[in-house]
Amino acid sequence: TSIYWHDNAFLPEEDVRISPHDRGYNFGDGIYEVFRVYGGKIFEAEAHFERLRRSAEGLKLALPWGLDGLRAAMTELVERNALSEGTVYLQITRGTAPRNHLFPADTAPSALAYTREVARPVQSMERGISVVTLEDIRWLHCNYKTLNLLANVLAKQEAADRGAADAVLHRDGVVTESSASNVMIVKDGLLITHPADNLILHGVTRAVALRLAQAAEIPYAERPFTLDELYAAEEAFVTGTTVEITPIVAVDGREVGSGKPGPITRRLQREFAAAIGR
Ligand code: PLP
Repeated sequence: TSIYWHDNAFLPEEDVRISPHDRGYNFGDGIYEVFRVYGGKIFEAEAHFERLRRSAEGLKLALPWGLDGLRAAMTELVERNALSEGTVYLQITRGTAPRNHLFPADTAPSALAYTREVARPVQSMERGISVVTLEDIRWLHCNYKTLNLLANVLAKQEAADRGAADAVLHRDGVVTESSASNVMIVKDGLLITHPADNLILHGVTRAVALRLAQAAEIPYAERPFTLDELYAAEEAFVTGTTVEITPIVAVDGREVGSGKPGPITRRLQREFAAAIGR
């Protein structure tokens, strides 16, 4: 049986009790992180916990656990589940209280975490994926990793209904990110990705990819790019904790570049593999 971490205790999944009045359930009033575990270790733990801190701050959610305590708990959870390759899901809600939009007084946040065995998506990383483009209808605090994922859910489903792997979102023709990952393109040899502002999630993998690009002397720019630039790109790819660096080979039914993963994408994939010890 799988061990969960719930309100500071480790217990089997069957013993987890969630109140129907949990604000996460009623309002999506909470935050989360998804961590990747390679070889039994949480990858980029520091960056994830720092983002969790910023998300909590953004939602005015006072975390009753210190980041070090949370990190120790997640490490113990990975050990208790003997997880070698997979993910840790951690969510923190504003807690349980009678339904009322106002923040409840004297209510402690509630936390839940569990692990999942997940293999690296080798096939899509090798072949690349097709995406469709959709209008980004989300709110203006996409830098907070909140439980409110309805726009992302609708976008991903629409992509699937149209036979694509994911949806790349745009605001008035400016590409922001995809439903669950960040987007990068290559134009004239320059790697371009949306700036880390309030319109995108500041992806941990995005930061890793930019760091790897810098080390490999691949020039990059954090600047907005348009749908037309995406259509005309030499290469495109998404970055994310579970998708790592996955090439985009088609957008709205049109091939990107040669229609195959490009050389800069391949280079960054190799550097990423090396960074995770593969
Ligand atoms: N953008 C969105 C909307 C996401 O949900 C995610 C999560 O995976 C990302 C980007 C990528 O972030 P990270 O690399 O930290 O997983």
